[in-house]
Amino acid sequence: MVSMDKLVSLAKRRGFIFPSSEIYGGLNGCWDYGPLGVELKRNVKDAWWEDMVSRHDNTMPPAGAPAAFDMVGLDCSILMNPRVWEASGHVGGFSDPMVDCRETKNRFRADQLTVFGVLTDADDDSRIMDVEPLFAVPGESEAATEAEVAAAHGKRFRRVIRNLRGYRLVALPGALDNEKLRGRTYAPGASEPGTLTPPRTFNLMFETHVGAMRDASSVAYLRPETAQGIFVNFKAVCDTSRVRVPFGIGQIGKAFRNEINPRNFTFRSREFEQMEIEFFCAAEQAGDWYRYWRDRRFQWYVDLGLDRARLRLREHHSDELAHYAAACADVEYEFPFGTSELEGIANRTDFDLRQHMDASGKDLRYFDVHQPDPERRRFLPHVIEPSAGADRAALAFLCDAYDEDRVGGETRTVLRLDPRLAPIKAAVFPLIRKGGMPERALALYRALRTKLNAVYDEKGAIGRRYRRQDEAGTPFCITVDGETLEDDTVTVRERDTCEQVRIPIPEVVSYISDRTAA
Ligand code: ATP
Repeated sequence: MVSMDKLVSLAKRRGFIFPSSEIYGGLNGCWDYGPLGVELKRNVKDAWWEDMVSRHDNTMPPAGAPAAFDMVGLDCSILMNPRVWEASGHVGGFSDPMVDCRETKNRFRADQLTVFGVLTDADDDSRIMDVEPLFAVPGESEAATEAEVAAAHGKRFRRVIRNLRGYRLVALPGALDNEKLRGRTYAPGASEPGTLTPPRTFNLMFETHVGAMRDASSVAYLRPETAQGIFVNFKAVCDTSRVRVPFGIGQIGKAFRNEINPRNFTFRSREFEQMEIEFFCAAEQAGDWYRYWRDRRFQWYVDLGLDRARLRLREHHSDELAHYAAACADVEYEFPFGTSELEGIANRTDFDLRQHMDASGKDLRYFDVHQPDPERRRFLPHVIEPSAGADRAALAFLCDAYDEDRVGGETRTVLRLDPRLAPIKAAVFPLIRKGGMPERALALYRALRTKLNAVYDEKGAIGRRYRRQDEAGTPFCITVDGETLEDDTVTVRERDTCEQVRIPIPEVVSYISDRTAA
């Protein structure tokens, strides 16, 4: 698998992703998508929107679905009445525990810093409380490798294990909340123990002020998720469109979180885009719909080309679930920096609609005119929420697509992106810059450009031009050569196999369109 260094450097060199406002030193946790990146991310969002919303057929159940259903879309404002965030629980509870190292000045999310002790093979686990010293290692996992601890603690850790025949690393969950244990814990890179502060909660919402007055009455928040916009518009959508439960509302939009520790390129950013569905159904069917959406969303990534072997569906244990959630699963991808969440699918019961009904005083119950039983005509639907990140998805597609192989005795870098996601669908080249070839190539480029994103390139050796497109993930390169002038055909070279076929010019536009689903 590609290293992050290589990927970040390709992303920058080829104009996929740049650090935000880089000429001023950048802004931690913020990224800009360049000319290729914006096309990739737009294609990810378009694929999601088409597959989930605009091309959904509401007249019959999709494969695996319990019933036919409606899907509609929304585009809500980023700033909302702050009462939304009180009712949703974000003002009171959308926080992460934060710890600082007084020595190194590093800041960590306490739940992403795990404390380990070293036991000999013979020790029993109760001995861990007596072990000295303890080592804090960045990461959420309770399994650490020797390399990870050594990376954070170098010589000190090696000294502790030097004379041990066999040893185990044992995690101490909650150690950072315990003053004694914290006092014996070395922070990553620290020269003495006990430099970590007790965990403090830190609200992740960005605050701003609306209007001219900057006081408590004018506080507003940049939304930390798009979901609440859907809940507060639930009644408006029911009243104005002809949707009937079960149905879903999809939304794509920016979300903002003042993450304690933005890292891993765009994976954890402070400004990012979400692609969320709130799917409303009867309580009795929520379990079936949950399984349907969980499996369908997992399959979406597979269908768009992510390697199934690097994808995982992780069902949460009951003790991991939020108090209102009945079930939750994460779609995880094996990134170069570890296996991490791409999307969460949750059965949120009727928690959100109930919170907003209670806080706003508005009746948000759904009125089912087709229900013969008057008692059951009004009810609060339960909600299944598939919540994905466009930036994380784009990053996963990039990591998965990156490949190096050998072509013509040379190493080439190629992005094997699904043609639907590829930023540029086709490149048109005249073999040489004379003999009428540029004119024929330009005419073909213009015809393609009316349907899809194509580029024209006449500079440099043909092999170099192919490589440039391989690195950008362009699935097809079309070359106008001497034969074109005789029989009106061109060569179409396929990115992954480098195979070439000759195609009559009048067929090229439909040939490329069909194969890139443009
Ligand atoms: P994490 O545990 O990684 O912080 P989360 O469980 O809080 O994520 P959700 O609130 O479920 O995330 O958000 C839904 C989706 O939004 C995530 O699966 C992810 O794709 C995306 N997302 C959340 N936070 C970020 C972020 N800081 N940067 C980029 N994408 C994010």
